[in-house]
Amino acid sequence: MIVKSRQVSGELKLMRILNARMELEDKDKQNYFNLEKGFEGELKFDALMTNLQQERLILNDLLLEKNTTKFQIDSFHIAQATVYHFEVKNFEGDYYIEKDRFFTYSGKEVLNPLHQLRRSETLLRQVFQNSGFSFPIESYLIFVNPSFTLYQAPKDPYIIFPTQLDRFLLKMNRAPSSNLNTRHTKLAEKLLALHQIDDPYKRLPLYSFEGVRKGVMCGSCYSFDVSVGEYYTICNDCKCTEESDNAILRSISEFQLLFPERKITTSIIYDWCEVIKSVKTIRRNLAKNFKQIGYGKWVYYENRN
Ligand SMILES: [Zn+2]
Repeated sequence: MIVKSRQVSGELKLMRILNARMELEDKDKQNYFNLEKGFEGELKFDALMTNLQQERLILNDLLLEKNTTKFQIDSFHIAQATVYHFEVKNFEGDYYIEKDRFFTYSGKEVLNPLHQLRRSETLLRQVFQNSGFSFPIESYLIFVNPSFTLYQAPKDPYIIFPTQLDRFLLKMNRAPSSNLNTRHTKLAEKLLALHQIDDPYKRLPLYSFEGVRKGVMCGSCYSFDVSVGEYYTICNDCKCTEESDNAILRSISEFQLLFPERKITTSIIYDWCEVIKSVKTIRRNLAKNFKQIGYGKWVYYENRN
């Protein structure tokens, strides 16, 4: 049973919008690319885990904190006798390990994911101890990309390579997990309660309302080459169709994500959407979907709770 499902992270949502609406510097582009790649890998891992037969409680993307250190757990499974902690990597291409350090084939050092795994495990044990849970923890580093190769790989049973994934699933399916009780649900509830809300804004590149591209973009391929009709918006690149009211709402939510401090007014959304010809359309959309605050020319809108 999935207790906490995986969502597109706030940071990835924001970076998708920024990447479409401004020219990112190389390092920010690389960061955005890594986020997309990581998320894609996690989805691949989730899809694999749907083949597990036994009952278990699954919590994805947990952000915990111990001694002011935040640490992320890609996936966490509570089974009958053991809890499993997974760090998922979607590395592609050739890598090598030298003296416990991790490099791409061209020699660029990356954070050793095994260190990351061990560090999270240590912190997780402390969280367990503090909360009075004594389940044994098994931590695995899972490489999901079939085109990944690691030279000089250590013989570590807790590292699972793409070619070993099928066998690993078989092994997991053999572990008994049919009797989950309140002790297991209590642990899931505790971890959910400890889950922290991430603040992605401090990691974003600098941007401003003036500096980002305005307009309605396609929700699938992020192209700005869209034709917004009265009822439907059609992307001229990927040809997908969306109701225009939806496309406007989506653009408003992009604006809200990028500028959470700014008030939503008809005129700012009119400027933001750019291609919507009529102010009335924007006003109707805002009135229908948001809560109106104030009167006359001071009107602005807030999300309905
Ligand atoms: Zn498109």
